Amino acid sequence: MEFLGYEPAEAKDVDLTKAEIIVSAGRGVGKKDNIPVIAALAKAFGGELGASRPVVDAGWVEHSHQVGTTGQTVSPKLYVACGISGAIQHLAGMKKSDFIVAINKDKDAPIGEVADVLVVADVLQFAPALTAKLQG
Ligand SMILES: Cc1cc2nc3c(=O)[nH]c(=O)nc-3n(C[C@H](O)[C@H](O)[C@H](O)COP(=O)(O)OP(=O)(O)OC[C@H]3O[C@@H](n4cnc5c(N)ncnc54)[C@H](O)[C@@H]3O)c2cc1C
Repeated sequence: MEFLGYEPAEAKDVDLTKAEIIVSAGRGVGKKDNIPVIAALAKAFGGELGASRPVVDAGWVEHSHQVGTTGQTVSPKLYVACGISGAIQHLAGMKKSDFIVAINKDKDAPIGEVADVLVVADVLQFAPALTAKLQG
């Protein structure tokens, strides 16, 4: 055995547990190139970007943004789930949020069971429109 030296732990770029507003991207956003659409909405709200596990596993977003049993458990004032179905492992990480808005093209998506508001829409159309409204 040989001592090679110390390496600093990878710095977390975000601490979602402290965020008051989180806007999360799910597989429904379609591809990595669409992540900036959700990040722009998060910024317009003054919040942080979150993500579901498939988005992280695909390398679209860093793991430090993952919400759920194998990510972070969060309880912001506002949680916006964009193209997220509402699997139990995701819900476990965010269902204690004060107010939950889900944007999903499927009106029967399980996320609707925990959402205070379910917007049935294509998130790639709705999110930019909402961002533009917020930016006034
Ligand atoms: C041991 C274990 C641990 C796990 N840990 C986690 C975890 O920590 N976090 C986590 O998130 N998952 C975790 N998972 C995975 C989890 O089971 C789900 O597979 C995952 O949460 C699904 O992610 P999703 O909702 O983004 O994708 P999907 O389930 O594929 O849902 C995509 C949603 O997007 C909608 N959609 C599609 N296109 C559009 C559009 N254009 N506009 C609007 N809506 C659209 C669809 O209707 C659908 O509801 C774990 C699984 C296991 C087995």
